[in-house]
Amino acid sequence: MSSFRNQYIDINKWTRPGIKNNGVRKLTVHYTANPGATAANHYTFFGRTLPETNRTRPLSKQEFASAHIFVDRTDAICIIPLNEVAYHANDVQQIVNGQPYRGVAALKPNANFLSVGVELCIEKNGTFHPDTVARAEQVCAELCKMFKLDPINDIVRHYDITHKICPAPWVSNPQGFTGFKSRVKKRMAGTVVTGSVVSNPAVTHTDTGRFIKNTVVAKDGLVLRTQRSAASSMVLTLPNGTIVKYQLGSTVNGWGYVEYTNSKGQTFHGYVNVSYIKSDNELKSSGQKKSSSSKPKTTEKSKFSLPNGVFKVTSPLTKGEAVKQIQTALAALYYYPDKGAPNNGIDGYYGPKTANAVKRFQSMYGLTADGIYGPKTKAKVEALLK
Ligand SMILES: [Zn+2]
Repeated sequence: MSSFRNQYIDINKWTRPGIKNNGVRKLTVHYTANPGATAANHYTFFGRTLPETNRTRPLSKQEFASAHIFVDRTDAICIIPLNEVAYHANDVQQIVNGQPYRGVAALKPNANFLSVGVELCIEKNGTFHPDTVARAEQVCAELCKMFKLDPINDIVRHYDITHKICPAPWVSNPQGFTGFKSRVKKRMAGTVVTGSVVSNPAVTHTDTGRFIKNTVVAKDGLVLRTQRSAASSMVLTLPNGTIVKYQLGSTVNGWGYVEYTNSKGQTFHGYVNVSYIKSDNELKSSGQKKSSSSKPKTTEKSKFSLPNGVFKVTSPLTKGEAVKQIQTALAALYYYPDKGAPNNGIDGYYGPKTANAVKRFQSMYGLTADGIYGPKTKAKVEALLK
């Protein structure tokens, strides 16, 4: 029995060009970077949502993207035949001597013609679930047999090819990837493999400075990120009240560096929005009184509030603060009304572009993709922003 099922998307110029590839020399592994979205969600996204979205965009804003197989905890779907090109590993991240960086010689000049792309879905907190990793091992073992590949040398990360931080958990922790490949090899040999490695994404940090031990997270679901930007990858989310260490002097543009050690002794590093952390030491040194405050304790509210009711494209367009709240929350999840436009299209008008952002979001999270904001969409957005 195959470890994956074929459910092909229709040929279209943005996600499945229908071009035959030039054989399969390597497998390229990726992570989806869409927290909580399943393999089936990605089938819908690349089969329907992205092509439909592109159809109404100017060429400069159209996105060309896809991969062959999507793996989650319980499912693995091949959405593009393995003898066809998918758009997964020919991006330009870096120019070296006037040429795009290409780190895997066997895949030059265009890895999309020479490798199969396997995407691992991530959990809501940005990590790989052990079951997803185990399933991906089965898929890769089957593909290695099919194309006569050696798992140790012929499974590469997207990062190895173009230097894109993908799959982020295995860029920061290359041992996670090494372990993955050796388990694929064991599976090919028929050895029983149990368990797998879950690890955190890459954080590059060069600041030095003393850490303040008793820094408290004051927001539920505070996201620890790989860079000083809400657009960077998530390392993990921290519950309200979590104790972390904050590095003095590390805050730039509102983002500071923290270290967090969980109950199992694993340590994670990354950047957080410092308006959501509180440190006694800093309060003391700035002369503020603590604990004797007469202020009642308030519950930290989510930064995002969302309106009730139903919002859709109307004539004339619905406008106002409520629409802006919807747009802002979607943008925080990277579903921009108009990426690259002023304020990414957050303008308070529920027009076709906002409806489209809602539609893309709905499609990715398994909701009816009608572009109409209602209670179900609200609940899903809220759950993800918590
Ligand atoms: Zn990738």
